[in-house]
Amino acid sequence: MKETPLPRKSDAKRARAAEILAALRARHPDARCELHWTTPHELLVATILSAQSTDVGVNKATPGLFRALPTPAALAAAGPAGIEPHVRTLNFFRNKSRAIAESMQAICDRFGGEVPRTMEELLTLRGVARKTANVVLGNAFGINEGVVVDTHVARLAKRFGLTRHDDPAKIERDLMALFPRETWTDLSHLLIFHGRRACKARGGSCAEDAICRRFCREGARAAKIQAIPASPATPPRRQASPARSGSATSSRRRSTRG
Ligand code: SF4
Repeated sequence: MKETPLPRKSDAKRARAAEILAALRARHPDARCELHWTTPHELLVATILSAQSTDVGVNKATPGLFRALPTPAALAAAGPAGIEPHVRTLNFFRNKSRAIAESMQAICDRFGGEVPRTMEELLTLRGVARKTANVVLGNAFGINEGVVVDTHVARLAKRFGLTRHDDPAKIERDLMALFPRETWTDLSHLLIFHGRRACKARGGSCAEDAICRRFCREGARAAKIQAIPASPATPPRRQASPARSGSATSSRRRSTRG
């Protein structure tokens, strides 16, 4: 199938993208995939489980699952009913259990029990869309096939002016066009790290964070507002001493009565 060419990006936009990447690298030197896994099939299972669930929640569920059903063959043989008890703390655990059982069965039947290493093959597995395939290719095999676009990447890519789109497929194409291929896996880790630590969906740390102030319009605006000196204070009212105030009141009273 002929690939659609990536959108063209100016040198200035690429240079700005490179600055963002360098700043994120300096800020988050420990950025990495936060799911716990030891083999490609464990990463695939953990990524399927992570849809609409937190990595922390997935990491709590997977040790028991991987201990009880340690191979693709064991997961396939257990079927959804055997997987569900281990993952019922996660959203949509029934659908996810089915996707895991079926994808592991396909891995055993069609790929000799090994997770395939191409986007095309991964996309044939149940429960695997482009985002999951990119996670597995990038992290388990070191293959930069695309950029993982999750909710953090989508939000930050837009706020940093790297895309104008909301559709994950279009955002991914913009990012692929702006950043060198060898950085794609790292880029998504960095954006996810920044998204989780600095730019929460509601109420980020706009003015406090140097990257935000430099690359996000909200950050620049928040910093400007912080920098505005407080308006010259209205001179404090002179406090009348209790004695004087008392006499003033009584003299006013006197004059009203008079
Ligand atoms: S400036 Fe605020 S809105 Fe922009 S990326 Fe940073 S935390 Fe998010």
